[in-house]
Amino acid sequence: MKFFLRLPTCPYCGAVKRYNDVKSTTHDKVIKCHHCKKKYRVSYIKGHAALILIECVILIVINVFLLKQTRGINIPLLAGFNAVIILLSTLLFPFTVRYKKIK
Ligand SMILES: [Zn+2]
Repeated sequence: MKFFLRLPTCPYCGAVKRYNDVKSTTHDKVIKCHHCKKKYRVSYIKGHAALILIECVILIVINVFLLKQTRGINIPLLAGFNAVIILLSTLLFPFTVRYKKIK
């Protein structure tokens, strides 16, 4: 099994794209490899969904833990903490993008 969070590689030649390139082409349907010039499909919905799901589970666990264990924690603080985590996780989105061969 390949590691879940990694930058996508070309399905033909294995060339790695840079983080910023992946980010800027995430919503393109088809892109051309800078190395072998072949075209491939961008697949990101499954990866993003999986990341968000994992994040929700982790956040729920952390929130429940904090609410039970910490006295005097307030909801705005907790909401702020969650917002920061969600914001940070969007930085991981390019690591969940995958490139697929066009049939
Ligand atoms: Zn290639």
